[in-house]
Formats: sequence, structure tokens, C-alpha cells
Amino acid sequence: MTAYEEKKQSLVRCIKMLERSKIMDYNGHASIKIDKNQFLINIGNCQRSQLSVADICQVDFDGNVIEGNGNPPLEFHLHTGIYKARFDVGAVIHCHPKWSTVLSTAGIEYLPVYAQGSLLYPLPVLNSPDSINNVDMANKLTRILSDRPAALMKAHGVVTTGENIIDAFVLLNYLEENSERQYRAQLIGEPYSFSNEEMELYYKKLHNKRLFLRTWNHFSAKLDGTIINF
Ligand SMILES: [Zn+2]
Repeated sequence: MTAYEEKKQSLVRCIKMLERSKIMDYNGHASIKIDKNQFLINIGNCQRSQLSVADICQVDFDGNVIEGNGNPPLEFHLHTGIYKARFDVGAVIHCHPKWSTVLSTAGIEYLPVYAQGSLLYPLPVLNSPDSINNVDMANKLTRILSDRPAALMKAHGVVTTGENIIDAFVLLNYLEENSERQYRAQLIGEPYSFSNEEMELYYKKLHNKRLFLRTWNHFSAKLDGTIINF
């Protein structure tokens, strides 16, 4: 398999795993940058649960389809905006997961209540529920995101980024898991929020390629038994 085909396959796997975990609904999208002004992304109207490489298109930064059987989602601007602003980013995921979106809908600040979730703290919030379907909204989002790996969009969804699709996928899982734990803890008491010292320690311990690949493999094995060896 060529590196290009491998990227398409990993995008398909990522989206199917997120759909299976109910983190992504019928509207989410994920991309992998393949050139200085092109990326791979799922077509807008595909079935996330039944995705195949035929549902992945190659587009330029203006959303023109270079190769593929359909059009990118209207929110392709979100991906273009981030790739233009952040040269360190090689993959982007956007979707509307329940628990993290509940926090931003209620105006509750994301707190580091779970070791892996602390990797995302502080988590910026875009103060608008509007879709990122034009350049202006993409600029607003990238300004809020700044150099962070992820952001919430108020009463709308989340965006996570990474050097590669594994990083963006794993951080999205950590973010959503932390949000659910925070929500549930707030129902019964005052959630314990990690100190700066604890977060520093967990960052050193948990932010590494080997553990990220282990998390990816956990979900990948559940999907169809496939794991990547390291
Ligand atoms: Zn959206």
C-alpha cells in the first residue's frame, strides 16, 4: 500500500472508530494534510458508519475537488483555516460530541478532572455556535485556537488537531471522556480539578507517541481486530 493509500485508510478507520464510540454523529469530518495546500477529507454526505476509501476526497485549500466521488463538507473552511495558520498540524477532526458540547452549551468551563483529559487544559472556547463554513468564521476559530491542540465551539462541537491523525483522534477521545466525567461529578458534588503540578506530571507521563498508539489500538481492535505494532 502506498503512503497516500495508507493515509486514506487511517482516515476511514479514525471516522469509523469515532462513529462507533458515538463521539461522531452524521455530520463530523476529519482530514489529513498531504501537501502544502491540499488535504484528504471525508465527503460531506457519506455514511460515517459504513465509510470506505471511496468516501474520501482530495481537495485544495479552496475546497476544489482534485480527486474523489463527492464534495467536501461545507465546513472544509475549518480545516483550511487551521492548516494555513498552523504549520505544525497534519490532521484535524471536527464533530459534535455530546458531553463536551453540553459543557459549552451550559457555559461551564472545561476542567482537568481526568489525567488524560488534563492534556487538553486550558481548552479555548469559540463564543459562537455558527458553522465554520466561511473564511471569516475559520479565522475566528484559528485565533481562539491559537497554539492549542483543541478548542470547543459554544453549543456546537469541538475541534482537535495533531501532528498526525492518531494524535487528533486520541486527544478527541480524552477530551470527551474528561467532559463526561466532569459533567457527572458536577451532578453529585464539586469535581476535583488537577493542580498545575499534577498536570505537569501527567503531561510528561502521558503525552507520548507510544501511549497515543496504545489508545488508538484499543479502539481499532474493537472495530475489527486491527492493531498497529510498535
Ligand atoms: Zn460542526
